[in-house]
Amino acid sequence: MTKKRVYIANTGGTIGMKPTPEGYKTEPGYLAALMAKMRSLKSPTMPAYELHEYDPLLDSSNMTPVDWLHIAQDIAEHYAEFDGFVVIHGTDTMAYTASALAFMLQDLGKPVILTGSQIPLCEVRNDARENLITAMVLAANYQIPEVCLYFGDKLMRGCRTVKVSADGFEAFDSPNCPPLGRVGVDIEIDWGLIRPLPSPLNPLKIQPIHKTRISTLRLFPGLSPEIVAHILQPPLKGLVLEAFGVGNGPTNNAEFMAALQAANQRGVIIVDCTQCLDGSVDLNDYATGSALAAVGVISGYDLTVEAALAKLFYLFSQNLPVADIKSLMQTNLRGELTRLQ
Ligand code: ASP
Repeated sequence: MTKKRVYIANTGGTIGMKPTPEGYKTEPGYLAALMAKMRSLKSPTMPAYELHEYDPLLDSSNMTPVDWLHIAQDIAEHYAEFDGFVVIHGTDTMAYTASALAFMLQDLGKPVILTGSQIPLCEVRNDARENLITAMVLAANYQIPEVCLYFGDKLMRGCRTVKVSADGFEAFDSPNCPPLGRVGVDIEIDWGLIRPLPSPLNPLKIQPIHKTRISTLRLFPGLSPEIVAHILQPPLKGLVLEAFGVGNGPTNNAEFMAALQAANQRGVIIVDCTQCLDGSVDLNDYATGSALAAVGVISGYDLTVEAALAKLFYLFSQNLPVADIKSLMQTNLRGELTRLQ
């Protein structure tokens, strides 16, 4: 049997960092050298791998949509030669990149698995080794045609993930979608949840994401309506409104409501997502939700804020009419959203 082949794109992050007097830092060649010394990676049960190191290696807090596009293009360039792809990434913005890649990689037929760690591979006690090895095994041997995130024994749909812990080994969760797989003594994939393979007639296509003027705004009691009105001014095109509970807001505040209505009339798309970790927006539940819908705010259902932002970037990059973007924001494209009727 020919050995499976995995392409590893090393974008940076803690997993490959080196201890220095100023703290952990990325260093070119460091992760590759550590991996070259790992006996387990030479086991016949492991796939062959090619590691491609990005320049510069980034702490993921410095990632931008330009970097997302670079990763997507890198995967597309090596797509035919490999069985699966592992993206080594910092944990801080991994959920954003996973969401963006899910939208950009259209008709994906092979696994793309993002992973990283809380403690670098160079340390004696770390979560890097397990995350890396299992991500490679998953990418090589399981034909999951999705962008996934593997971390802390869980394989999750990338566009459903959120970073939930700044220092725990179970740093990610996908609150509104069960894990696609769990890793213990055995690797158990929930094949019923995995999205279908694309038709062989539709090869992988990159939908680029371009720079777009969008933002998020987290509501809180006492938020000044002038600040809201200011944020909604041109050149803003889209806003993810992080609202209370099932999507409610301070609808007694006439200035706040007028600012939303005026922005909606100018064509700004305002997507209501919840501040809660799990559950869905339902703008019909309370008068404080239906009033938002009445001024043009649309429900983001159970989209994570990360996925809502990535989706806005993706849809605006296609220069679609506002009505189409609004409708597609509420349509499940990659398993990112549960549309409750
Ligand atoms: N600051 C790091 C990063 O996101 C944290 C990590 O990798 O865990 O790149």
